[in-house]
Amino acid sequence: MTVKTEIRDGLHILAMNDGKLNCVTMPMRRSLVLALDAAAADPLCKAVILIGKGRAFSAGADLNEMNSEKALSSPRLHDTVLSIIEDMSVPVVAALHGSALGGGLELALACSYRVAKADTMLGLPEVALGLMPGAGGTQRLPRAIGVEAALNMALSGKLIPAAKAKEGLIDRIIDGDLLEGAVAFAREIASIRPIPRLNDVKIDRNMVSGFLQFSRGVAKMDPRRLPGLIPIIDAVEASITMAPADGGAFEFKSFKKLMNSDESQPFRYAFLAERATASISGVDPKTARPVLKVAIIGAGTMGSGIAIALAQAGIEVQILDLNPDALQRGLSHCRNTWDRSVSKGKLTQAKRDRFVASVEGVESYDQIADCDLVIEAVVEQMSVKKDVFSSLDAVMKKGAVLATNTSSLNVDEIAASTMRPEDVVGLHFFSPANIMQLLEIVRGKETADDVLATSLALAKRIGKVPVVAGVCDGFIGNRMIDSYLAQAMYLLEEGATPSQVDLALEKWGMAMGPFRMSDVVGNDVPWDGRKHRRAANPELKSPVIADEVCERGWFGQKTGLGWYKYVPGARKPAPNPELSAVMEAVSAKLSLHRRRISDEEIVHRCIFALVNEGAAILAEGYAQRGSDIDIAYLFGYGFPRFRGGPMFFADSFGLFRMIREMKKFAANPHGNPEFWTPHPLLQGLSDSENDISKHKVQS
Ligand code: NAD
Repeated sequence: MTVKTEIRDGLHILAMNDGKLNCVTMPMRRSLVLALDAAAADPLCKAVILIGKGRAFSAGADLNEMNSEKALSSPRLHDTVLSIIEDMSVPVVAALHGSALGGGLELALACSYRVAKADTMLGLPEVALGLMPGAGGTQRLPRAIGVEAALNMALSGKLIPAAKAKEGLIDRIIDGDLLEGAVAFAREIASIRPIPRLNDVKIDRNMVSGFLQFSRGVAKMDPRRLPGLIPIIDAVEASITMAPADGGAFEFKSFKKLMNSDESQPFRYAFLAERATASISGVDPKTARPVLKVAIIGAGTMGSGIAIALAQAGIEVQILDLNPDALQRGLSHCRNTWDRSVSKGKLTQAKRDRFVASVEGVESYDQIADCDLVIEAVVEQMSVKKDVFSSLDAVMKKGAVLATNTSSLNVDEIAASTMRPEDVVGLHFFSPANIMQLLEIVRGKETADDVLATSLALAKRIGKVPVVAGVCDGFIGNRMIDSYLAQAMYLLEEGATPSQVDLALEKWGMAMGPFRMSDVVGNDVPWDGRKHRRAANPELKSPVIADEVCERGWFGQKTGLGWYKYVPGARKPAPNPELSAVMEAVSAKLSLHRRRISDEEIVHRCIFALVNEGAAILAEGYAQRGSDIDIAYLFGYGFPRFRGGPMFFADSFGLFRMIREMKKFAANPHGNPEFWTPHPLLQGLSDSENDISKHKVQS
């Protein structure tokens, strides 16, 4: 039985215990009904206490069940379990700890009273999954804490600790043992009549109609395009305008519609895909080596950002830089970042002091010898990296993990400069490293499984989303972005402008268009890469315009000119006044008649380029799952979550239809037509009517 009852002097204590997070799955719902029925049938029962064993009261719906028929089959939460609770002739006290989320919070809201440990996290996170509450959350929460606070919670999906919950949600915070506190509370309220029921509370419509209208306006403009926003507002309005049973039915109908809608799928897919990235076949998380102290080599942009991320997770950090001024600049960057957070009220002085104290600048390799992990973040030059790794090899204690933050160099070659290549791994952070959530973990040929497990554990500890990649040029993310950027630039040569391309892709959902993004990163970075690749392969095809821009020193924001012009103090970039002449000259040199290009062609060429390159990466085994590629793009490249990621988008667009378009692109003689031969993996999946986002590499 998932729910066990203990009877203590007339109190029925119902303990939910599924060994996990007490999700309101079919077995849990059945078990709750049986336990509640038994309490209702007991003439000596004075009150019921509903409590969760393990880590949580209840984390709500189980997403895997949600994708099956069982989710909505009887006994259902909203109209069976919760109705039974509300119809009990004795009070029901929910005793909360850990978390009470979604269906878990809705379960608590149907109870007569709620007591909680101060740190219980409460929330209605359904919105972030492309859904909405479906078991009375939009009906009872406004009655508990008011329309404004309830809408804020349901529309943001944010979690709040019970201690900070608005009055009306929690009746008592329990300091000591939760069950004992709940028992004492239940004894105090057992005979109070009428039994409080949130559905009996009436909301004054006049007070809130303005707020509802305002919320609708904001929701319509929300760039996340969460499909639950407007239905949540409508359902909250129903809690005011309709009788409770009708409001509940209205909410459930909208919930069901959303659940079956195309719009909600990418959000649920992304949620599950994110949780899958850390599971790597053959790698046992329990083998992770302990990491207490980390050294960083290089205190520049990346080194100092990584130091911030580590220190904030309670890890002791030592930074070493060959240049004493650079070291001081790196340390000041850490301090200034935390000082700014203190002045904005986002960080306490005590925490800031703790973070500052945990980052130490050092001058020699001997001082870092006992660190458990080293992250190298020096300049992107193989010879320098090799020197650093042979120094590390000479001093670091046995078992230390040696990581490189290289964004493009061969991790196997770096590893070969040590006598312990099995301890070497790539930890590719994204800039700014303390903010960006993606961590690409690059598994070298010889990287040991427990080194990979250590890297995955570190990612989790510092709040990053890991994606494991193999050693190939650009790994997953940057290899794909190269193909995407190449298309964006070929489009310029054919007649588009940077702002047209950027706007088309931003309107489609990308956080930043390719040219704005390139100006932020610096156009010189890929230029260096192109020069190296061209040296190795003189036949390499790349857009002429990219080199023309770099030869003029237009490296982007850092030089004031790039694809745009950056005027100090101006919020938006202006057009680079000299660029059109350069673009026209390039088109003429390539004998191209500049033409009007549609936004659709821009989007399809750039996004399908990501997909075709992603298919190659999968086929070559450099990514383990199609969904890992999507997660890299959602967390590292500003790909819109409402499209699920490039692979998920390809599936929803239809592989057959996409391949047909690729063939049309291949007929355009400009811009590397061979690239548009659909990768055989893509073609095969299309022929067999399978999805690339579900594709897994067999190990
Ligand atoms: P940076 O130029 O800002 O910093 C490099 C630092 O390394 C400098 O402070 C320099 O003094 C120091 N350094 C150079 N040689 C050294 C040596 N032998 N020993 C110790 N210190 C040395 O560079 P960055 O942007 O922080 O990039 C560092 C690494 O991270 C590069 O491999 C880069 O490709 C990678 N990376 C950069 C970004 C980015 O957006 N900047 C993103 C991902 C990865």
